[in-house]
Amino acid sequence: MSTTVTSYKAFIGGELADAASGETMEVIAPATGEVIAEVPRCGAEDVDRAVEAAKKVLPHWLDRTPKERSELLHRLADVLEEHAEELAQLESANVGKPLMASRDEMPFSADNLRFFAGAARNLEGKSAGEYIEGYTSMIRREPLGIVGGICPWNYPLMMAIWKMGPALAAGNVQILKPSEQTPLSLLRFVQLAQEVIPEGVLQVVTGDGVPVGERIVTHPDVRMVSLTGDVATGKLIARNASDTLKRVHLELGGKAPMVVFDDADPEAVAAGIRLAGYWNSGQDCTAGSRVIAGPKIYDRLLEELVPQVESLKVGDPLNDETEMGSVISQSQQERILGFLERASTATVLTGGGTGSDRGYFVQPTIVADVKQTDEIVQKEVFGPVVTVQRFADDDEAIRWANDVRYGLAASVWTRDVGRAMNAARRMQFGTVWVNDHLLPISSELPHGGFKQSGYGKDMSIYSMEEYTEIKHVAFKID
Ligand code: NAD
Repeated sequence: MSTTVTSYKAFIGGELADAASGETMEVIAPATGEVIAEVPRCGAEDVDRAVEAAKKVLPHWLDRTPKERSELLHRLADVLEEHAEELAQLESANVGKPLMASRDEMPFSADNLRFFAGAARNLEGKSAGEYIEGYTSMIRREPLGIVGGICPWNYPLMMAIWKMGPALAAGNVQILKPSEQTPLSLLRFVQLAQEVIPEGVLQVVTGDGVPVGERIVTHPDVRMVSLTGDVATGKLIARNASDTLKRVHLELGGKAPMVVFDDADPEAVAAGIRLAGYWNSGQDCTAGSRVIAGPKIYDRLLEELVPQVESLKVGDPLNDETEMGSVISQSQQERILGFLERASTATVLTGGGTGSDRGYFVQPTIVADVKQTDEIVQKEVFGPVVTVQRFADDDEAIRWANDVRYGLAASVWTRDVGRAMNAARRMQFGTVWVNDHLLPISSELPHGGFKQSGYGKDMSIYSMEEYTEIKHVAFKID
């Protein structure tokens, strides 16, 4: 039986649009390897078209009140909630992730829009006052104008929403580019929300990183760009943005350690790793990918962990029972297996293969006997692969945890409050969880990296800093 191939459109100037060239590109379901859709293969001229539409609407949008911006975000959240199941199904098919995960992301994304609907009405600027005799000064917090958002494939709709909320709440207009591999949920979302979105305020241009992403980054009228993506892409974008001195917000890769002290509960830690290491097939920038365990708990932890990981239900992402689906593509599958092949001195305790001839799967894998300097410990694998290391003392644990170029998220597992506080203080990561990993996130709380995991914050009121600038207005009063 052949799969139906659905055609989607970009969203430019308030209209569902084809690429100016008329070209399209295929979208694949990674769990089957089949083509499920085609989308416009836009080019630089389509970005330019979107910028022109944005420039037209910007002066009118800047006149809208915080209440009106807030109402737009609430309406977008309504659309998302009304169509949550359809969008979750589409997300699962396009990303190969289990329905239980996609279904989780929809209410969380709607909540994020509602959080920023509230934030739109609570923006702070310092109060006016007389700081120089004879003058009253006013501090205004203002939107930047046209902002760009470039999204990854691992949480396609949710990452777009994380950029949409603060950008629109602050009064900007936005051009989003989804990943070329996973554009479907965002395209369907804006199609469903078409009537709600004022023309040109929110636009979606599909296509490859080059030329579409590149043009957003280099266009002189785009004032800021936010990327969620790979470290290498972040560096390139920061370099390309420098020509127009564009503001850049970067949410990049991670290599999150889970530091397990000897006094932790091995059963609880194993359950935590089962979730944090393999959620979304480990294709999560905060995935717990490096377990760094104490000398006394190490063996006991592995006894718990291996059967826990082997119990993961891997399979069809559209099956309600499935806990882990495929990875995103054949090239990602090959990349992950390449890490395992090159880690030739390591011991694979479970997994290590594809486990399936159809689609792009990788088995949940645990790798022991690795050294801190090994590639598999140092680089983001971005797959269902967790390494386990045994540390000698607390100092070594923290040193190893920090000894990677990334700094996005980490966790510490111990029943000793002082030890946890000390570790959390010393660890160079944007988020440190204690006795949990991955789940404790909420729209109110900031998410962002240290070191080469990037700069700036998603979610929370702190993200409004990325999308606004401060203006001083001085009045001569005598
Ligand atoms: P990627 O960097 O390959 O692509 C991200 C986006 O950048 C895509 O839309 C792509 O088309 C675009 N792009 C590529 N080249 C470009 C260029 N020259 N100019 C402008 N845009 C360009 O990343 P990916 O493979 O889609 O996503 C996986 C990566 O994202 C992982 O490294 C992961 O850790 C990271 N990630 C980070 C976070 C976070 O919050 N820090 C969240 C999710 C994913």
